[in-house]
Amino acid sequence: MYPTVELYVDGRFIPAGKGRASEPIYNPANGQVLSELPHASKAELDEALVAAARAFPSWRDTSPLERSGILRKTAELLRERIDALSEIMTLEQGKPLAESKGEWNHAIEIFEWCAEEGRRVYGRVIPSRSLALDHLTVHEPVGPCAVFTPWNFPALTPARKVAAALAAGCTVIIKASEETPASAVEIMRALHDAGLPKGCAQLVLGVPSAVSERLIASPSIRKVSFTGSTPVGKHLMKLSIDGLKRTTMELGGNAPVIIFDDADYDHALATLAGGKFRNAGQVCISPARYFVHESLIDRFTTDVAQRAAALRLGDGRESDTNMGPLANSRRVDAMERFLADAESRDGKVLTGGKRVGNAGNFFEPTVVTGLNQDALLFSEECFGPIMPIAPFATVDEAIEKANAVAAGLAGYAFTRSVENARTAMRRIKTGMVGVNTLAVSSPETPFGGVKESGHGYEGGIEGLHAYLDTKLVSLS
Ligand code: NAD
Repeated sequence: MYPTVELYVDGRFIPAGKGRASEPIYNPANGQVLSELPHASKAELDEALVAAARAFPSWRDTSPLERSGILRKTAELLRERIDALSEIMTLEQGKPLAESKGEWNHAIEIFEWCAEEGRRVYGRVIPSRSLALDHLTVHEPVGPCAVFTPWNFPALTPARKVAAALAAGCTVIIKASEETPASAVEIMRALHDAGLPKGCAQLVLGVPSAVSERLIASPSIRKVSFTGSTPVGKHLMKLSIDGLKRTTMELGGNAPVIIFDDADYDHALATLAGGKFRNAGQVCISPARYFVHESLIDRFTTDVAQRAAALRLGDGRESDTNMGPLANSRRVDAMERFLADAESRDGKVLTGGKRVGNAGNFFEPTVVTGLNQDALLFSEECFGPIMPIAPFATVDEAIEKANAVAAGLAGYAFTRSVENARTAMRRIKTGMVGVNTLAVSSPETPFGGVKESGHGYEGGIEGLHAYLDTKLVSLS
């Protein structure tokens, strides 16, 4: 069921083979090897760069209508293949099949959105100071792009970058995660089958630092887009400085959740108990730090712990699984580090707290209370199934705690009052705020962070403009 993982360079698929460096790809549910990840050689990286540069002028000059047709056909093919694609994603990433299918649907809708929105790259006519002068703005694709995607959303993050770049008229080289590469291979396959001209998109794989250094150093690359951790994002920005390349950085989050005393309690409980453990908490906009009004905290912690304890942990391919394994063993080690810190500070583990079994990266859904703001769970992004909960008394205190970290990606508030909703909307320092909802990511809305969560946007018209320059034309 798991396909051969191949590179895709200049319209050719290249599998692992004799004499080529490679590494195993593991199933996080049982530790078994799924396949081999072929590493692109330096020559192949250079070939990808040459192909992307060579294909750029003709893709740039291809009509938006024609580009749109190829992207729509790609979406159609992915939709036809969705059941097999969902299995592949669950095998390599671990999330339950229903979540994999949901992610593929989102990725497909991104291709559809970009197919349409690429036809609406409008310029402006700006009134000038003289009748003999016209000012126009036009948008042009920035050029060949190098984009880097992580393992938590193996189809969604590649779709966001590749579909937007192609819709804007850019060519693209993607380095997908070495741990979850097959979903990205399947996106390349659909683009290929949809008739994308060779050289417009390439997929390269290998040692992340070696690949990114070679690609970003190339003068032909004009734009770098990365989703992943803040330290790696900073590193890639430094690499981008020499050529003054444009960057989009979607980095770590550490989302605060404020549950006000006037919240619709049942709605908040159901939304958060479900949302927190989606993809085992390995989501950059996952609700991470919980601040609950002191009048509700005892009830909330008891109820949410009960719901967390009832979640069925298992292989994502089994139909009764609510939460799959963590995507790699580093995350299990990280959960143990967060909990050791919590326990050293007398945090109270209400449910969970342990890894499960010896095979696979399973870790129990966990709820912890009794911690101060200096605990690791309140200062660093946990990126896993641990829910730390602390009380607050006043609105100012809640906002101060919510904003007390370096990250600023998403923030959430649950309240019935306009006043608290407005406070949350205005004062939570994040790129996205959800009031009474966790739904802050869709193909048509901008997605991006502030502070150390990065800069730039994906999704919406902003996501397309990430791959466009604005040119002023003055006509006299
Ligand atoms: P990591 O920082 O080593 O890797 C994160 C991603 O960056 C991986 O996909 C990796 O392939 C890529 N990467 C690493 N070094 C790179 C380089 N030099 N050039 C190009 N790409 C490179 O750590 P990790 O253990 O995979 O994840 C740790 C933390 O990363 C998590 O705790 C989380 O905070 C963050 N993370 C965030 C997201 C997100 O969606 N924003 C996704 C994955 C991980």
